Amino acid sequence: ARKKLNKLKKTPAVTRDGTTILLMANIELPDDCATALEAGANGVGLFRSEFLFMGRNSKIPSEDEQFEQYKRAVVAMKGRPVTIRTLDIGADKPLDQSEHTALNPALGLRAIRYCLAEPQIFLTQLRAILRASAFGKVRILIPMLAHAFEIDQSLAMIAQAKAELREADIKFDDAVEVGAMIEIPAAALALPMFVKRMDFLSIGTNDLIQYTLAIDRVDYEVAHLYNPLHPAVLQLIAMTIAAGHKAGIDVAVCGEMAGDVKLTRLLLGMGLREFSMHPAQLLSVKQEILNSDLARITPQTRKVMRAMEPAVIAEAVEQLQRL
Ligand code: PEP
Ligand code: MG
Repeated sequence: ARKKLNKLKKTPAVTRDGTTILLMANIELPDDCATALEAGANGVGLFRSEFLFMGRNSKIPSEDEQFEQYKRAVVAMKGRPVTIRTLDIGADKPLDQSEHTALNPALGLRAIRYCLAEPQIFLTQLRAILRASAFGKVRILIPMLAHAFEIDQSLAMIAQAKAELREADIKFDDAVEVGAMIEIPAAALALPMFVKRMDFLSIGTNDLIQYTLAIDRVDYEVAHLYNPLHPAVLQLIAMTIAAGHKAGIDVAVCGEMAGDVKLTRLLLGMGLREFSMHPAQLLSVKQEILNSDLARITPQTRKVMRAMEPAVIAEAVEQLQRL
């Protein structure tokens, strides 16, 4: 089966009825780009930059050090887009082990909240990312946004980082796109706030499920409650895709759901055209796309979305896979 999949590496991901789907890779370090290209990825949809910061006893990598790493990824991807997510530290991704002091770290000072509270760390990272944008197509992705002022402050920090580089005569791509992770239910319920200010959206289903269902994603005692097919989760995802497309901006899913081949058709039926996943899942998802017909999937997806009973949803999703 692997051998058959490997033959699909260079095949574009197009549905039977002719719609092209972008398949992007999630990476943790620049070295992962080799695996991403090997799997035929159209680009990097999520570079989890916090992995450059972790396991260093809180010693933050310098601007030059970060720039070198981001540039490595950008150069390795040979003109394909590289979506660099700004530091998503805290909760399940601590800077160092001593840091677990907050009573509810998942609800605490993490990701963009941390970055806005530590503007020098944030500015340093933004300058490093912008410098890498002189070497290929870079997109900046901001995690855990919920409030309009967080979007505005993030954009102001990017403008400041650009001004500092301009002042120092350092090259960058002034047109670099900036996007928001939609991973807090409040964000998915306030999409006009986001589409107005952002160039693209990326749905982080891992956290979206955690926060919608109030389940700690790393607590095994409640793991049985972690259900991507909960109707509330499905509604939030579908709303985000629809609102993004209505506003004319790209929407991706970069959480684990994007790499689950059992959910590929459901996401296609919701209108998703960009999936970002671990490179190991990419060819299986591509195979499913090549075998899918949007004209048949779309009405069946509407059935899934109308259902509220878990058994009905599960059955309708299985039916989708048999189409
Ligand atoms: C997510 O939350 O779905 C996501 C892609 O980001 P992470 O798993 O790194 O929080
Ligand atoms: Mg997340």
